[in-house]
Amino acid sequence: MSEGTKRPFSVREIREEFPALRQLIYNKNLIYFDNGATSQKPKIVLDAINMYYSKDNANIHRGVHFMSQKATTEYEASRITIQKYINAKKSEEIIFTKGTTDGINLVAYSFGELLSAGDEIIITAMEHHSNIVPWQMLCQRKGLKLRVVPINKKGELIMSEYDNMLNSKTKLVAVTHISNTLGTINPVKEMGAKAHAVGAKILVDGAQSIQHMSIDVKDMDCDFFVFSGHKVFGPTGIGVLYGKEAILDSMPPYQGGGDMISKVTFERTTYNELPFKFEAGTPHIAGGICLGKAFEFLSSLDMVAIQKYEKELAEYAQDMLDTFEGCRIIGEAKNKTSVVSFVMEGIHPFDIGTLLDKQGIAVRTGHHCTQPLMDFFGIPGTVRASFAFYNTREEVDKFIEAVEKSINMLK
Ligand SMILES: *Cc1c(COP(=O)(O)O)cnc(C)c1O
Repeated sequence: MSEGTKRPFSVREIREEFPALRQLIYNKNLIYFDNGATSQKPKIVLDAINMYYSKDNANIHRGVHFMSQKATTEYEASRITIQKYINAKKSEEIIFTKGTTDGINLVAYSFGELLSAGDEIIITAMEHHSNIVPWQMLCQRKGLKLRVVPINKKGELIMSEYDNMLNSKTKLVAVTHISNTLGTINPVKEMGAKAHAVGAKILVDGAQSIQHMSIDVKDMDCDFFVFSGHKVFGPTGIGVLYGKEAILDSMPPYQGGGDMISKVTFERTTYNELPFKFEAGTPHIAGGICLGKAFEFLSSLDMVAIQKYEKELAEYAQDMLDTFEGCRIIGEAKNKTSVVSFVMEGIHPFDIGTLLDKQGIAVRTGHHCTQPLMDFFGIPGTVRASFAFYNTREEVDKFIEAVEKSINMLK
């Protein structure tokens, strides 16, 4: 975590900084409970987007002129803000990507080049499709074996099965830090230590954790940590892959093009240093700069207080939903946060979502890009309410009333 004074957590004050929250949907006050899909943006990010394109717009890393140098300085300053926020050793370990999906594909391709037939990769039963499919593609390409850690009915990993799967052929464990569908918080530090004990690396999908808890990659001792900017109050189209320097150094480039080279001839090309080796082409400059602003904003907040607040909010919502007859909560892990997924007996999730929408409430319905998880629970999908620190208890009360009204209409 970066140093500096944290302001005491006040949901009223925080809401002031998110203009999107102050709008009417079908003439009702918006209640935004779809933060697992994407987050709203604070003023500091919105102002930075406007400022960049109205004044500072220039390409980076190559111009001699004032604007190019200013854009480069800001883009690189943002990398350092993020490095400090997640407590990475060096800014070279922060690779800008398009998002979580892009970061995982980068690792699957590039780290995958170092693997050979017979090697094993471990994922879990609760992964998002973007932490399943790239590994399947790699396994097909290289003749590797993909193994899946099962879960119990509460939506927790069965750790004894994980222990049994680890062996000298295991090369990588790829696991989500927090499940986007269940809210389960996985013991990634412990899983990493066990992976390291057999010589394997661990990739942590942080798409659902970076916005809900303080992240310290050194303490977690993960080899890779990936997340998306848009879920952590920044723009879409930008994200981060953190990787330990020595491992990133050992990996071949993912894409070829400008910026990732140090010298090109038709006979031979030598590659640039980290992080540029993995950043071919003109990047999402505004995205990188504005993601830095999102992290400046987060740095001023007390994440410990926020984590507690969000957990209480989710528990409150879950306890209220649980009182409805025919309601089944999907995901009852002991260690969970920020997400409540449920199904109502005899009612399709989509119908509840549609009626909630008409009452100004944004939730997600469907499989949440976790189809194997839906198969495990024997359901087509869920209604998912996912919270951020700008949500309130009053909003949860209105949501519960609206769910009740919806059920009564559909019964
Ligand atoms: C959203 C999400 C992803 C994919 O993120 P993109 O921004 O779509 O690339 C991956 N894993 C988890 C757990 C997610 O919630």
